[in-house]
Amino acid sequence: MAAEIHPKPLTRRPVLLNKIEGSQDVVNTAVIIPKEDGVISVSEDRTIRIWLKRDSGQYWPSVYHSMPSPCSCMSFNQETRRLSVGMDNGFISEFVLAEDYNKMTPDRTFQAHQGRVTVVLFVLEMEWVLSTGQDKNFNWHCSESGQRLGGYRTTAWVSCLQFDVETRHAFVGDHSGQVTILKLEQESCSLVTTFKGHTGSVTALCWDPVQRVLFSGSSDHSIIMWDIGGRKGTAIELQGHNEKVQGLCYAHHTRQLISCSSDGGIVIWNMDVQRQETPEWLDSDSCQKCEQPFFWNFKQMWDSKKIGLRQHHCRKCGKAMCGKCSSKRSTIPLMGFEFEVRVCDSCHESITDEDRAPTATFHDSKHSIVHIHYEVTRSWLLTSGADKIIKLWDMTPVVS
Ligand SMILES: [Zn+2]
Ligand SMILES: [Zn+2]
Repeated sequence: MAAEIHPKPLTRRPVLLNKIEGSQDVVNTAVIIPKEDGVISVSEDRTIRIWLKRDSGQYWPSVYHSMPSPCSCMSFNQETRRLSVGMDNGFISEFVLAEDYNKMTPDRTFQAHQGRVTVVLFVLEMEWVLSTGQDKNFNWHCSESGQRLGGYRTTAWVSCLQFDVETRHAFVGDHSGQVTILKLEQESCSLVTTFKGHTGSVTALCWDPVQRVLFSGSSDHSIIMWDIGGRKGTAIELQGHNEKVQGLCYAHHTRQLISCSSDGGIVIWNMDVQRQETPEWLDSDSCQKCEQPFFWNFKQMWDSKKIGLRQHHCRKCGKAMCGKCSSKRSTIPLMGFEFEVRVCDSCHESITDEDRAPTATFHDSKHSIVHIHYEVTRSWLLTSGADKIIKLWDMTPVVS
């Protein structure tokens, strides 16, 4: 009789390649330079640094440039090697980097906002510099002349911004929890619509122009996938983080979403599976299973001499239930719930083991993430932490 062999499955996880240390304060934004062993970082410590990998295997700055104010954000265009840096004082400074990344030439500095610049985005195709600030303005400037072209006043301050070059739509995520979609013209813009789905501020946005899908992450720990290309108004919720979502990147080639949170969690979502929308929660004055009244239903409590109960909702069918009728817990990965959630007894029976198969993998970066960048050609992920450290990860074991 042949012995049964159960080999322990190899745990596939991101591989830490390098730690980049030396910043005096939090690195607010950093990017991996494609095709180079290099990283550009801007920090609250007022510096712009270009780190190149040395023969020792360590990254050391080849450029170290001090700015008059903390650097809050940046945008780097590899084709033109143009670097746009937004600062706490409302100014944006632009530089052109040398081909070997050993030098940086200042180009232009202009005041874009009255307060801290929260996002800057250079769009080569339009020659636009889009920016948002704590002054609640969304502005765009001509990158050639430095002239302000247009603006839009947002209801709350903006923390993230994405732009679709083809249709000139801007997606603006703000602290009130909504995403505003604007159609930009050369010197004006019009409000297209707003997406409301988060209960906390929108902290990360990622636009995939190929599938025409927008991902939004929030301080409410959730991610929503807004399917714009599908034209059916589908919005899928993804619940896999225990803390504020800080960064989102989509890997087209493998159809995987990478999300990171402030507790250091990295989640890789398989977006190739068909997920369902979560149901609307139903309203009822009594349990929709055992018909016991809920505590505000005094009439029925009096008539039937029963004690009022607390209302709960089954995450799968959305029915209002008492605690006893919804005592079971289950993951529902195909509805985006990678964590166990409350389900009613009949839904619990209907969920099979196959349904419970996870559609995401979970990893720990071991630092409180404030920003991420994914470089697709090598499948490298950069995480910048509240610990002032930048970590570089090889994602090929998990993004494939
Ligand atoms: Zn009940
Ligand atoms: Zn149910």
